[in-house]
Amino acid sequence: MHELGIAEEILGIVLAEAERNQAKKVSAIRLRVGVVRAIEPEQLSFIFDHIARKTLAEGAALEIEEVPVRVVCAACGEMESRSFAWECPKCKGYEISVQGGDALEIVSVDIEV
Ligand SMILES: [Zn+2]
Repeated sequence: MHELGIAEEILGIVLAEAERNQAKKVSAIRLRVGVVRAIEPEQLSFIFDHIARKTLAEGAALEIEEVPVRVVCAACGEMESRSFAWECPKCKGYEISVQGGDALEIVSVDIEV
C-alpha cells in the first residue's frame, strides 16, 4: 500500500508550508499524479483524510489530477495513455517509447490564515 508513504510525504510538505505561512487551516490541496505511479486517487484521499486528523490539514480537500503518459509509436505517432503501455494502444506494435506520466507534485495548497 504505497499510498500511505505518499500521503505522509504530502502531509509533511503541506504542514511545513502551512506553518511557514502561519495558517490556521489547510482547506485544499491540488496534486498532479502520473498514471505510471499506479495510485488509486480514492485510496490516497481516504488515507490522507485519516492521517491528517488533528493537524492543520484536517478535512482538507485533496484534488488529484491524473497525468497521462505519452506513447510515441514508430508507426502511429504520439498519443496519450491512461496507463503504462508495453505495446502501442493502436497498432499493438512494440516499437514505442513511453514518456512522462511519473509526476508527483503538489500544484497548490489553499490555506486559511
Ligand atoms: Zn502504433
